[in-house]
Amino acid sequence: MALIVQKYGGTSVADPDRIRAIAENVALTKSRGNDVVVVVSAMGKATDNLIALADSVSKVQPGREMDMLLTTGERVTAALTTMALHALGVDAVSFTGSQVGIITDNVHRKAKIVEVKGDRVREALAAGKVAVVAGFQGVSLDKEITTLGRGASDLTASALAKALDADACEIYTDVTGVFTADPRIVPQARKLHRISFDEMLEMAGAGSKVLALRSVEFARNHNVPLHVRSSFTWEQGTWVTDEQESNMEEPIISGVVTDLSESKVTVVAVPDRPGISALLFEPLAAANVNVDMIVQNTSHDGTTDISFTMPKADMATAESIVRRVADEIGARDVEHDNAIAKISLVGAGMKSSPGIAAKMFRTLADLDVNIAMISTSTIRISVVTSSADLEKAARGLHTAFGLDSGEAYAAPLPERK
Ligand code: ASP
Ligand code: MG
Repeated sequence: MALIVQKYGGTSVADPDRIRAIAENVALTKSRGNDVVVVVSAMGKATDNLIALADSVSKVQPGREMDMLLTTGERVTAALTTMALHALGVDAVSFTGSQVGIITDNVHRKAKIVEVKGDRVREALAAGKVAVVAGFQGVSLDKEITTLGRGASDLTASALAKALDADACEIYTDVTGVFTADPRIVPQARKLHRISFDEMLEMAGAGSKVLALRSVEFARNHNVPLHVRSSFTWEQGTWVTDEQESNMEEPIISGVVTDLSESKVTVVAVPDRPGISALLFEPLAAANVNVDMIVQNTSHDGTTDISFTMPKADMATAESIVRRVADEIGARDVEHDNAIAKISLVGAGMKSSPGIAAKMFRTLADLDVNIAMISTSTIRISVVTSSADLEKAARGLHTAFGLDSGEAYAAPLPERK
């Protein structure tokens, strides 16, 4: 008998029919003799709607109160899923993150898990029940309700899988697995059967929305293999595992990742002296702004331009900080560019094959795509371009690196939350 953690994302539980459908899958899994722990997201766009609701009530949004509000989304799904299981004759019980002992630090809206106790889940399983856990939430060391960051129900699932020593952690979503590119942007995208944690981590960092970055980080650090699959087709999806196991396929490039969620800020004509970057990036870090790419141009006449990218969602926070610092250090101006795209090539094989960057830049040059910024890791190359060039660039790179499936991906994809 196996212990299986199944996580269902927002689109998988978007309406009553979907909730009944996933309850049937849970019942089926249980009837095969497995112990099942279910982790659920909020229904459809519930979390977005709660955020919009808060926006319409007040500009002042203390983190503690936002977390009180946002955790309700997952509670709704957990209770409804449990009822649907009862209707199928499956004994089940729902829990909040706090009830199952997901202990976090005290940072609201982006809390980090410090410990997973899981006692009540173990008790429920021992009593023959399915445990249904509200994802995305925990309780802080200060005993406040916290959320773990957008998309973090995946993290709840992998953390529970680790704590319970589960045999499998299945992440059900609205796509059939991890693709070589977003099929809505690159119709020739293919599903990958396996991918390494490192590659998945780079893909998530590069903006792939299939799995939340921190859940992949967690799964890698604790070696929790993840099976990303669809709750619409139930077919075999993509296994995310450690590199040895993933080596079977070993393409040089595993995917082209596109991201429209970032903005670019340029601080113009900054005095070129020691300490300037620290003055700029320290307060941004203190405000939890996730700065991504940074480029500092060479100095002319003692001044230099510093450009960086960050999530559009952090722009409001960052804007006032950057303005203040720019004034303090005597920079000439601050410019924003919202119309950017980040396009990344990810592949473990890059480590041993030189020339990937050159080929990427040549491909983009031939497509007349201008590159504004470049950054690399050992297994990733990312460029920032104009958002208008996104499709052309992504499709061109997908073809150039031999990733095309040979047939256009035709399955209708439900809109992601
Ligand atoms: N409901 C949360 C969100 O939309 C968490 C999740 O779905 O994983 O970000
Ligand atoms: Mg999600």
